[in-house]
Amino acid sequence: MSRAIALDLIDKRNKYVSRGVGNITQVIAKKAKDAIITDVDGKEYIDFASGIGVQNIGHCDIGVIEAIKKQVDELIHPCFHVTMYEAYMDLAEKLVEITPGSFDKKVMFANSGAESVENAVKIARKYTGKTGILSLESAFHGRTLMTMTLTSKVKPYKNGFGPFAPETYKIPSGYCYRCSFGGTYPDCGVACAERVRTLLKGELSSDMIAAIIAEPIQGEGGFVVPPKEYLKALQEICNEMDILLITDEVQTGFARTGKMFASEHFDIEPDLITLSKSIAAGMPLSAVVGKAEIMDAPNPGEIGGTYGGSPLGCVAALKVIEKIEKHNLNDRANEIGDLILKRLNVMYEKYDIIGDIRGRGAMLAIELVKDRKTKEPYKEIIKKITNYALEKGVIFIDAGIFGNVIRFLPPLVMTEDQVNRAMDVLDEAIAKNI
Ligand code: PLP
Repeated sequence: MSRAIALDLIDKRNKYVSRGVGNITQVIAKKAKDAIITDVDGKEYIDFASGIGVQNIGHCDIGVIEAIKKQVDELIHPCFHVTMYEAYMDLAEKLVEITPGSFDKKVMFANSGAESVENAVKIARKYTGKTGILSLESAFHGRTLMTMTLTSKVKPYKNGFGPFAPETYKIPSGYCYRCSFGGTYPDCGVACAERVRTLLKGELSSDMIAAIIAEPIQGEGGFVVPPKEYLKALQEICNEMDILLITDEVQTGFARTGKMFASEHFDIEPDLITLSKSIAAGMPLSAVVGKAEIMDAPNPGEIGGTYGGSPLGCVAALKVIEKIEKHNLNDRANEIGDLILKRLNVMYEKYDIIGDIRGRGAMLAIELVKDRKTKEPYKEIIKKITNYALEKGVIFIDAGIFGNVIRFLPPLVMTEDQVNRAMDVLDEAIAKNI
């Protein structure tokens, strides 16, 4: 198939767009529906990226489109700080209802995942009167000053962008496949939790730490699922030491993992939760949801922003939640996840380069290694596999602190046939490239 239109546009992209804005593929999308993206030359792709975890309910959902169109005709942007509007309050009420935490909660809205994390940190500092923030090894929280500081991977996220925000410290991530302590779960006794306790009694004092921030399942870090006991221990440590627990559910939220929020897998009730990505099916929106008294710590005007919680974002988000609930997309995430897992398990038996398969629901990944014993990351093969898949019409993207993970983030409306076709292509892509 000719790529004539795409190639012209790629020239334009290279001429006018900063190269620092990375492109994982050279596909130029024209339109998308459910789990299929069609490019400018008419080629169709099965999408296993979902706009990096944004299209959980599927591309261009009709309910979202209609809600946005109706809102455009009525009110686009009065700015919530100037004149309020109902959709902001409606969505706040709904998020309070569906997020974990059996206590009174309140909400504030922003525009991006990074912005929600920035705000959660501000709120935690204001409430506790303390400044230190602990984040996890292999974490990703965004590209702004504070969030890139809390992020682990240097290249590309922190490369040459220092100095970083002060008073941030790292704790283990519970990455069992590559345990920092050389242990094996569960015999390890969850040594990572003990390490955090020790740190907070010596090198760091709980008197200086405002919050621990953790993705319940790490996204960019490679879909690292920590032991349940680890996140529960972090919650206990926080409770004992007057530290707040923030879970960053920007990538894990809204049915991605088979539950509305991944914190639910770990039986934890975070003090603050950050949300974005799939919240509004592609409208730029993010939120911080948390304990009411903590959310009320900042004085009027100390948090917010011009566009935060725009009417278009809020009406889209209300439709997203309605669709997840009406169509039981949590169950669907588990069904799709089971289908993918079944295929990945067969591939694990055939291909030694698959070192680990992990994830929850429809948030799954494979970690590729040169040798199952040494676990040396096999980064070089990732592009070969994803490029082969792209040729065959499937979009897979990478992840991982070592860049050796392929992650699967299908829209939760993907059909069984589409999942199986994509898995056929993955199987073939590995076979052709090992
Ligand atoms: N937090 C997590 C867990 C993420 O996965 C991301 C983005 O991938 C962010 C924060 C940053 O979100 P954004 O790119 O919208 O700023």
